[in-house]
Amino acid sequence: MNAAKRPMLTVREALDFMAAAPRQALKAEIVPTLDANGRVLAEAKASAINVPSADNTQMDGYAVRAADCVSGAATLRVSQRIPAGHVGEALQPGCAARIFTGAMIPEGADAVVMQEQCEAVAPDMVRVLHAPQPGEWIRRAGEDIVAGSVILAAGTRLRSQELGLAASVGLAHLSVYRRLRVAVFFTGDELTMPGEAPGGKLAPGAVYNSNRFTLRALLENLGCSLTDYGIVPDTLDATRATLRAAAREHDLIITSGGVSVGEEDHIKPAVEAEGRLDMWQIAVKPGKPLAFGEVRRDDGCAYFLGLPGNPVSSFITFLLFVRPFILRLQGAAGDFAPRAYAMRSDFHWPRPDRRNEFLRVRINDGGGLDLFPNQGSGVLTSTVWGDGLVDNAPGQAIAPGDMVRFIPFSGLLY
Ligand code: AMP
Ligand code: MG
Repeated sequence: MNAAKRPMLTVREALDFMAAAPRQALKAEIVPTLDANGRVLAEAKASAINVPSADNTQMDGYAVRAADCVSGAATLRVSQRIPAGHVGEALQPGCAARIFTGAMIPEGADAVVMQEQCEAVAPDMVRVLHAPQPGEWIRRAGEDIVAGSVILAAGTRLRSQELGLAASVGLAHLSVYRRLRVAVFFTGDELTMPGEAPGGKLAPGAVYNSNRFTLRALLENLGCSLTDYGIVPDTLDATRATLRAAAREHDLIITSGGVSVGEEDHIKPAVEAEGRLDMWQIAVKPGKPLAFGEVRRDDGCAYFLGLPGNPVSSFITFLLFVRPFILRLQGAAGDFAPRAYAMRSDFHWPRPDRRNEFLRVRINDGGGLDLFPNQGSGVLTSTVWGDGLVDNAPGQAIAPGDMVRFIPFSGLLY
């Protein structure tokens, strides 16, 4: 069937199709935990220790036996001083230990009274003006993590939080998958690199290659190892040669531009000659065309994704389709569908499209969503102004007060 006549895929159908593509597990490598930001954990990690490792105090104050303080005005002898990092001696009845946040609770003590509720009455005597419950202000050994328990599952994406957690149980190195190798290039005779316009002036009909900057940053944020072939001359030979070279050393090849239906362009014949290609029309706006396929090499193939050239289409297509595909190839576990939140529209959208729209919106101070006035697929200012996207069902009109599905950019950019 002619590509133009084929029914459009829904977003879900396109995602399911990509999620079913076979995946080769990447090799694992050991890296210092300090350098593991953004990597994907290759094996589950358990803690060898309790955290905290021993009962310790949450407050500066006095460690006591609660039974000695029931009067609410007990006078106790200060028998020792225990700063954090030091181990005290067993606490005798009728005594208190001066103790500082993080220090181990001495044997025999069962509560801490904060210093604000105590009065030093002599150099070695304290009056405790509070009757503590047993356990008061004590952090129990293992209350955060019990020794032997799994703290990070295989396939976890390592963010600042996961790195801190790994370090808190003493893990100096982690086994992570090697970085995904991604090649990118850009098509379009009109493209000019910033700083390279002849005479410093953009020629008539030319546009700056903004997609190069957007896509590179998106790929870097996902922790990919990137080769940028820049603007490839618009000939079949150059396109095929670049695809062949890229396939040899990369897991995934991404291009921008030239995937619109009917376009006289070399991406489609070049990928078909070097591998296999599906040209999809997805019922999504912006970002209808997407090419998905593979480019052969001696020992297998590299995946191929051709993004539309329109800058907003290319950005949104990346967030919706490329990002989950990359996460899966990286070995990340979990559901990569963008998380949507129910939020209130403060705008009118009376003439919806028949396709699934992704509208650029911003959160206002009243907790509702405002719409960027120009939703054109080339209007990059909408992506800078916006906080995220409204995922609007096909044909769904929106009025102020309606609840809509809001997807924040913040959840999609790393
Ligand atoms: P195409 O998908 O090649 O038909 O391009 C659609 C529109 O996007 C055209 O207006 C192109 O000039 C523009 N465009 C294509 N590639 C880029 C790019 N790399 N950066 C900015 N705009 C682009
Ligand atoms: Mg083009």
